Amino acid sequence: MNISRRFFMKTSAVAVGGAVSAKAGTAKAESRSRAPADPFGCLVDLTQCVGCRKCEQACNEVNHLPEPKVAFDDTRVLDCKRRPDQNAFTVVNRYYPGKKDEQNRLVPTYAKIQCMHCQDPACVSACIVGALTKQENGAVIYDKSKCIGCRYCMVACPFGIPAYEYDQPFTPEVRKCTYCFERISKEGGKPGCASVCPVEAITFGKRDTVLALAKDKIKKDPGRYINKVYGEEEVGGTSWMYISEHPFEKLGFLTLPKKPLPTLPETIQHTIFKFMWAPMTLFAALAGGMWVFNRRQMTGEDISEERGADNE
Ligand code: SF4
Ligand code: SF4
Ligand code: SF4
Repeated sequence: MNISRRFFMKTSAVAVGGAVSAKAGTAKAESRSRAPADPFGCLVDLTQCVGCRKCEQACNEVNHLPEPKVAFDDTRVLDCKRRPDQNAFTVVNRYYPGKKDEQNRLVPTYAKIQCMHCQDPACVSACIVGALTKQENGAVIYDKSKCIGCRYCMVACPFGIPAYEYDQPFTPEVRKCTYCFERISKEGGKPGCASVCPVEAITFGKRDTVLALAKDKIKKDPGRYINKVYGEEEVGGTSWMYISEHPFEKLGFLTLPKKPLPTLPETIQHTIFKFMWAPMTLFAALAGGMWVFNRRQMTGEDISEERGADNE
């Protein structure tokens, strides 16, 4: 998949957010993105998932989300290629990557998607007021009291995850998977989706441990899995990771660079500051341009009156 245009748009959004926040004092300090040393991780084994949507239902319940448009026991929606939104923080989609069974029928593969809780999240870097933060346990969480509704995070996210409550005119919020932050902060707590999966397709634990488990599974059964852990390296690594029998691009997963997206905008910012083009200089230039423009809109009479007032 060609991602150059998408990548440019997203890095630009992070650069704008970063450049503005560079002058935002304490807000920048809070929003600075840093990968934690020993975060939690979730491994989804796509060879085990049976597309039952129990994880969707559990997520709905633990997050007190609205009733779904299609009941959770109706699996026809699996073919709709849904995306998470403000009312559903995780969704499962069905793909047919080409494998056939003995009766020559296509065999489906199911893929659960949600916020990946990136190790070095672009949304956190893009947020100019520190409303999104990366926690030590790996969760990327949202503080609605700080959010100003700029929606830079939505443009910056390489996975297109944050959703906005456009239907809430007075107090709209950015909404996405919380990694069940409250649950996992408690001793032994698991995300709602991971605790309910009937076939244990989701393994929750320390990220290093579940990554080692993923590699071990691949090594022990190379006929069952391709040699790839999605999320190990994508955009600097993510907390949610996947193993699969089929190439990930056949299952709706984006091909993304290994470097975290914040790296490029930070380099641009440093270059800008090196040459003294700080954001305030840009704002001063814009203000000057507006003054000249307004001046040109004024009639000769207006200007004479203004000069007369200055001379009094
Ligand atoms: S997937 Fe998107 S919203 Fe989630 S942490 Fe990464 S950049 Fe942020
Ligand atoms: S971790 Fe929690 S919020 Fe995220 S998809 Fe699972 S249940 Fe939903
Ligand atoms: S609960 Fe488990 S098996 Fe069911 S759709 Fe979710 S990940 Fe797949």
